[in-house]
Amino acid sequence: MSLALHTIQPIALCHSPYKQKFSIPRQAQLAPSAQAQIELLRPYNDPAYIEGIEQFSHLWLTFIFHENLAQGYKPSVRPPRLGGAQKMGVFATRSTFRPNGLGQSVVKLESVVHHQDACMLHVSGLDLLDKTPIVDIKPYLPYADSLPEAQAGIAQEAPKCIEVAFTEQAEFVLIQLEPLKNKKIKQWITEVLSQDPRPAHRKHKIDHKIYFSYLDRFNIHWQAQEKVIQVLHIEIKSNEL
Ligand code: SAM
Repeated sequence: MSLALHTIQPIALCHSPYKQKFSIPRQAQLAPSAQAQIELLRPYNDPAYIEGIEQFSHLWLTFIFHENLAQGYKPSVRPPRLGGAQKMGVFATRSTFRPNGLGQSVVKLESVVHHQDACMLHVSGLDLLDKTPIVDIKPYLPYADSLPEAQAGIAQEAPKCIEVAFTEQAEFVLIQLEPLKNKKIKQWITEVLSQDPRPAHRKHKIDHKIYFSYLDRFNIHWQAQEKVIQVLHIEIKSNEL
């Protein structure tokens, strides 16, 4: 068989709280409180496919950057780390525009749920858009996958975080949620916005624009001030209170 004819099919679908690309952290684990479900698709929803998976705390997900496939790719990209001004080779970056459109993320496995025909992996800390097709799942192996001495050039350190503050109005919306949920959602919003989701060319500049981040059922209105991201208001779609 010619290698060019090898095709791959999704084995699972990600039900992610990230409903739009804007504001999704640039890597997994940057917002550890993000919770999602990985639904195994037929015929992989048979428990035989994941027997023993509970013994691993973290999993590798290989997935398709499905929202970007139509836009193709270029040999060079402008990594946000370099402010969007300088170019690097696509294979020297984690760009979402790449020849085979594949991404890889390590997520935390929270639990495994079987219910009739459904087989779900509950995970956290992901950087995947809702409805992302997953083409493979593998256990994360610390002895092989964690290399503290590895060099990572422009991306040696995690991106710097910015402080996030909530107005009284935003706090008021959150305290109407049940107490545990209130705390978790506030933590997640803080983790996401502390990454400063603005485009690279806007960062560190005076910016009066009000941004909207749709996180799960929450529409977060926010503004970047000099050294802090201020959550101005939060709208909640019904069923959340
Ligand atoms: N950890 C993965 C990797 O290194 O291959 C993904 C890194 S990529 C820079 C992360 C970004 O991909 C997110 O911030 C989000 O904007 C984008 N993204 C996530 N899921 C996507 C999808 N299904 N289609 C297109 N873009 C997606």
